[in-house]
Amino acid sequence: MTQSTTRAEPRAPMRARAEIDLRALRANVRALRERAPHAALMAVVKSDAYGHGALPCARAALEAGATWLGTATPQEALELRAAGITPADARVLCWLWTPGGPWREAIEADLDLGIGGMWALREATDAARALGRTAKIQLKADTGLGRGGCQPADWPELVAAARAAEKEGVAQVTGLWSHFACADEPGHPSIGLQLTAFREMVAYAEEQGLDPEVRHLANSPATLTVPESHFDLVRTGIAMYGLSPSPELGTPAELGLRPVMTLAASVALVKDVPAGHGVSYGHHYVTERATTLGLIPVGYADGVPRSASGRGPVLVGDRWRRARGRIAMDQFVVDLGGETPEPGEEAILFGPGDRGEPTAEDWAQAADTIAYEIVTRIGRRIPRVYVNEDPAHDLDRDPAGEPARDS
Ligand SMILES: *Cc1c(COP(=O)(O)O)cnc(C)c1O
Repeated sequence: MTQSTTRAEPRAPMRARAEIDLRALRANVRALRERAPHAALMAVVKSDAYGHGALPCARAALEAGATWLGTATPQEALELRAAGITPADARVLCWLWTPGGPWREAIEADLDLGIGGMWALREATDAARALGRTAKIQLKADTGLGRGGCQPADWPELVAAARAAEKEGVAQVTGLWSHFACADEPGHPSIGLQLTAFREMVAYAEEQGLDPEVRHLANSPATLTVPESHFDLVRTGIAMYGLSPSPELGTPAELGLRPVMTLAASVALVKDVPAGHGVSYGHHYVTERATTLGLIPVGYADGVPRSASGRGPVLVGDRWRRARGRIAMDQFVVDLGGETPEPGEEAILFGPGDRGEPTAEDWAQAADTIAYEIVTRIGRRIPRVYVNEDPAHDLDRDPAGEPARDS
């Protein structure tokens, strides 16, 4: 939330901008709620809402029916509270703790604390005891991801300690939860194994007297493809931003989603060059014939992956051009093949695709990564420009239709 946000006319000329379509985000949230009609929805807004801007996206998700927000770090969660999202507006769960907290601030802000091990439970309950308050905690089970969370062998000890903390009045277990390893690979055998392990670990905790408000396991791919994983709450990140968790699951349109971010830049220079001219650092591209080059004023400092050098696509006019030669820190070059657009013409790196522009998935393939990383890494130097902020008109138009703008 430290990034610049701009409420200027979206078409105002600027070096580059990331346009964030909040109507698309709200429509995605509604579509996901329809996929999981019996579960509450947690909008995962960690890492500045995957680069889209945590606060505007959190607010838009709540307007569309999300009731929980999720962040990785407690600092991210505290920023939401500091910005005015109250406990009445949303429960907020954060799960990436390191020794030292900030436990006291988190308990005072009425956050739900994801707890994956004994050291964290001890620190959380110590802080609650010192404050004379009850910490809301959610025990995280490692049902097979092999990353955070409590192993099945250690679960009885964690559950017993949490139950004791409840009896002492320093903690209330509000949730039991876990995270999938391979939900983006339909039919992967680990999905069923994790579901079974989760049911067993929940049943054990409940037998020991815990009575959580919410049990939750599903991320975006599981929300879309594994209905039996929905339980009481689904935690959706990438799908809310309109991107497919994996090309294997289908395109955003096939999943009923619409990409929220459009990254565009103003062409900064157009010039004639002769045949045989090297382009950008290292001269990895050499013009075959006399041509025109266009300068696109964004680079890896802005999150445009250097590993997409030679491949990353951009729509200029009505044609896709490719980053030619190395993508540099602040800029890269496209070969315009003799065309001479005016400097200032729009170059679209990615967007929903309606205007023929590439998508974040196209950049992910060009950079050998996933669409999550493409949007999340778009840098602070690029202003986010919010469009379609007012939810009042959402139902007037088909959300999958023309990207009408009202702000
Ligand atoms: C990031 C994250 C999510 C959201 O994952 P998506 O695949 O983006 O939906 C859900 N739960 C946890 C614990 C996460 O870290």
